[in-house]
Amino acid sequence: MPIKTWELDPNFKNEIMSEAGGERLASCFQCSTCTLGCPIAEIVPGYNPRKIIQMSLLGMRDEVLSNPDLWICLICQTCTARCPQDVRIADVMGALRRIAEREEEAGKLKIDSPRPLFDKAFQHQLKKFGRLYDMGLAMEYYPKKEGSFIKGMLAMMKDYKDFGMRMFLKGKMGPLGGGSPVKGMLASKIKQKDVMKKIFEELGEEGKEK
Ligand code: SF4
Ligand code: SF4
Repeated sequence: MPIKTWELDPNFKNEIMSEAGGERLASCFQCSTCTLGCPIAEIVPGYNPRKIIQMSLLGMRDEVLSNPDLWICLICQTCTARCPQDVRIADVMGALRRIAEREEEAGKLKIDSPRPLFDKAFQHQLKKFGRLYDMGLAMEYYPKKEGSFIKGMLAMMKDYKDFGMRMFLKGKMGPLGGGSPVKGMLASKIKQKDVMKKIFEELGEEGKEK
């Protein structure tokens, strides 16, 4: 990708470093250890956390924030554990995601990934039930992703016809299984639900459901 020097934002690295988790960005010396150990880089052609760090340091703000690769990182922390410079790449990814979400809220960017919707549905389920309720997550996420309830249900059935059915048959997912609030309540499995609510309250704006 040719670098358009006149479009570089020299302040971008400072913006990232002022976010929680982004503080160590400038310590990167481009050794590639992060990319070599990344499980996603092994299966997704072109996925390269080192490159995202490099582009961020160069000031390629628009390219970095609109890059869908930001949203496929698992935040597994493998790169963070191995980085010789303690860059904490997974946290840098989190910082970049927050900046991208703010840009989208301000109408300056369209995030090319359904991942923020998934994350919000995930948080909402945790807050509501004190643990993850798989069916609730799917019922909330798919309609938002597809733009309507019917389209969402059709997309969900398509995605779930293989692995979803296997999870269902193994009791890992279903209206009364796999994190169901009904089953959980009956079995008293959801303990200290209020603790989860408190965590969201402590997080303030960051923890608010959208
Ligand atoms: S492992 Fe650390 S120092 Fe090496 S390229 Fe990745 S972020 Fe930079
Ligand atoms: S945290 Fe993200 S970038 Fe780092 S190893 Fe895991 S998937 Fe790869």
